[in-house]
Amino acid sequence: MSIPLFCKNRKVALMGLGMTGQSLIKYLKKYNMSPICWDDDAERREKFEAQGAEIEDLNEPKVWNEIDLLIISPGIPFLYPEPHPVVKLARENSVQIITDIDLFFEHLNAKSNFTGKLKPKIICVTGSNGKSTTTALIHHILKGVSKNVEMGGNIGRPVMDLNLENSDSIKVIELSSYQIEIAGKLDPDIAIFLNFSNDHLIRHGGSGGYFFSKAKLFLVGNPKINIIGIDQKEGRYLANFLEAGNDPRNVVIKISTLGPVSCSKWSVFISNDFIIEVREGKEVFKSDLSKVLKIPGQHNRQNACASFAACRALGLSSKRSFDKIFGFRGLPHRTELIRNFHGIVFVNDSKATNMESVKKSLGTFDNIRWIAGGLKKEGDDINLNSFFSKIEKAYLIGSSAEEFSNSLKGLDHDICEQLDKAVLTAYKEAKPGDTILLAPGCASFDQFKSFEDRGDKFRKLVNGLS
Ligand code: ADP
Repeated sequence: MSIPLFCKNRKVALMGLGMTGQSLIKYLKKYNMSPICWDDDAERREKFEAQGAEIEDLNEPKVWNEIDLLIISPGIPFLYPEPHPVVKLARENSVQIITDIDLFFEHLNAKSNFTGKLKPKIICVTGSNGKSTTTALIHHILKGVSKNVEMGGNIGRPVMDLNLENSDSIKVIELSSYQIEIAGKLDPDIAIFLNFSNDHLIRHGGSGGYFFSKAKLFLVGNPKINIIGIDQKEGRYLANFLEAGNDPRNVVIKISTLGPVSCSKWSVFISNDFIIEVREGKEVFKSDLSKVLKIPGQHNRQNACASFAACRALGLSSKRSFDKIFGFRGLPHRTELIRNFHGIVFVNDSKATNMESVKKSLGTFDNIRWIAGGLKKEGDDINLNSFFSKIEKAYLIGSSAEEFSNSLKGLDHDICEQLDKAVLTAYKEAKPGDTILLAPGCASFDQFKSFEDRGDKFRKLVNGLS
């Protein structure tokens, strides 16, 4: 293994001591490097110090005399609403800022790490919603055909914890807009843009910055295969832009859940219940997706199209790519069926943290008793009138309950404030055939540690009903 160029003869500082920080410390240790570490959270600092990390306050201007490189975790504000003070200090001292994603690509690109072998294939998945589900589904299909495959990134396993020495393993990487925004080095073989809706506007300085941080994966990464969801105008723009680009070796596969795609060399789309692949105007595959895809909703069909396309781009046959979708159970907290109790169905979609994912959730079910609210995201309008006919009643929780109440005029709703009250009230009022759906449309941090914590509490409350 050769020392990563970024780090060669440089004193490295590390900002952010979560899972990503941990994986970086472990990686750098292999090269006998010990970074100067900091996190604004005292508990984390203590934990890492106890494990032998060198802790020094990176907010102190004088430490910057000795630092040559700063590696930051994706959660550290980079540009907006304003750069973190440590990022500002790095810039003032002309210190290069990178992330684990840069190191990951640098490591895999260093020929000396794979002498005589091909470097591993890398598939990167981005988009506003569905990244984790798609990453997991691609992983599931490839495992099903006995490929050596690992998944990581924003899905919960830092990229530096993957097996970086194994040139045979395909790596499926979920990338958030935060990660792409900061990373300077991006080099996927296949990249996927699923969809686009407003989110994280404060972090990216508005929707332009947010779109750019998704498009950057394609513009900087220059993947050979670009799989682009074209159901929104942003995806259509990106796909057309890439097709019009001047590298004819790069392929664009357009995916859509809205029927046939016109003027495309390669497309995968949904028509009625069928997934259809068309190449050079010729239908090469068509099969009933409901036979293999067991997770509900139109949104999951989009994820299936993208996953199918990625496997096809890797050279798998269409039949195998399709057949192996079967058996995928989805991920917890994403339109997850918890219980069918006395004919009432309980669904945990705690990960529905923005209005677009709420719309997908509401579109999936009928006779809905909808539990919503939490810490609402700026610029994400509650504009759900077209779904009112599907909703029996809304049960509102969290700090945005009042705002939801004002936006749901004409829809029966209660302000329950707490999740336990919402679950109990909804259950008491429900009748067989109803679906009690937790799809908050908000972040969880006003009342819970995380969306997982919120979903787990919901599951516990539901399983405790008698
Ligand atoms: P991400 O990793 O992008 O946050 P997830 O797969 O974790 O995506 O799903 C997040 C939320 O979005 C869940 O509520 C899920 O049901 C919903 N969702 C999943 N796929 C899509 C999609 N393709 N379009 C819209 N919403 C989706």
